[in-house]
Amino acid sequence: MTTIYLDNAATTQIHPAVLDAMMPYLTGEYFNPSSQYSPALHEKQVLETCRTYLAQTIGAKPSEIRFTSGGTESDNWALKGIAQANAEHGKHVVVSAIEHPAVLESAKWLERNGFEVSQVPVTEEGIVTPEVLAEVMRPDTVLVSIMAANNETGLLQPIRELSQVAHEAGALLHTDAVQVYGKMPLSVTELGVDALSISAHKFHGPKGVGFLYCKRGMAIEPLLNGGAQERGYRAGTENVAGIVGMTAAAALAYGNAPASLNFTADAAYEVEQATAYEQALSRQLEEGILAIPESRINGGGAQRLAGVVSASFKGISSEALLLLLDQEGICASAGSACASGSLEPSHVLQAMGVDDEWASGTIRFSLSAATTAAEIERTLTVLTQSVQHLRSV
Ligand code: PLP
Repeated sequence: MTTIYLDNAATTQIHPAVLDAMMPYLTGEYFNPSSQYSPALHEKQVLETCRTYLAQTIGAKPSEIRFTSGGTESDNWALKGIAQANAEHGKHVVVSAIEHPAVLESAKWLERNGFEVSQVPVTEEGIVTPEVLAEVMRPDTVLVSIMAANNETGLLQPIRELSQVAHEAGALLHTDAVQVYGKMPLSVTELGVDALSISAHKFHGPKGVGFLYCKRGMAIEPLLNGGAQERGYRAGTENVAGIVGMTAAAALAYGNAPASLNFTADAAYEVEQATAYEQALSRQLEEGILAIPESRINGGGAQRLAGVVSASFKGISSEALLLLLDQEGICASAGSACASGSLEPSHVLQAMGVDDEWASGTIRFSLSAATTAAEIERTLTVLTQSVQHLRSV
């Protein structure tokens, strides 16, 4: 049985060209970038080439990019590091109700450590509006963290307007852009954000690597104490192969890969083309889903990432449905990978006011540029039969 992989929001397959770019740094180029002999100086140069390229992809300066181990680390660092370093201006932090656990749990940590946290609600469409954010801002608010797109629904948030609200109230704004980077053009200056989290494995790069954009001049506590890596803000020998892989993966989407990387230009795809392709497949999937009685697409009327489809089937158990799909080789998830496995209803759907009888029958399909129309067709056949079967027993 062939596998139909529709869980790309959980993780993606490493692109072969990304692996090719990484290989030299997993084999012969193993030197420690902090060492002083010539081969190691090359590693250091490679890191800086990657940093410069990644900075360009979001309109930032190289010195504003800090390498991390991925989205969770970037989010933890942003929340704890920025709040603590700016505590003299106030101890109030705002997060949205639909954030990833990496943000929500970091906010809880802040609460246990002397900060006050407010959760800003979302509309029924799953959006944080500037007006509602303005209502929770206080003179002592130092940081607002709102994700660029939600991982369960794909809903895009109006970050530009939200950062204006945060700044007018004297606060900084962090955005978790883990689901957006590599799928859409992103500019930190256009969005007006002060910090932004990225994770490589969500866009065909390796797991265990990411970065945090920190706007120049913004105070942030160091994450790890030790050596002088990342200007002393995140000590530890750098994950050179991972960082090269992340850069190559970014170049798949954004083009103009650094010439010094072992990266074939013909592996690149245009973000716009990939978006249009995934949008067309998502439409095919959504039309097929809506043809199933008592089904709906969550956040269907709002702006979403291409390729993320959150569908609910009234009165169905998503666990049972996932099992039937799995038996046919179809990989999807109930809500997000982090929330699935627990029987708790999704906090994202709850925040959107989705009734339990709908929320408990929710499945997230997430596509990639490698998904085919035939795979979507097959998924719809199995899905329709499975829902019918579960409703008949
Ligand atoms: N933030 C969002 C929105 C995510 O979807 C994820 C991945 O599940 C993360 C953060 C965590 O990223 P990582 O798996 O790299 O720790």
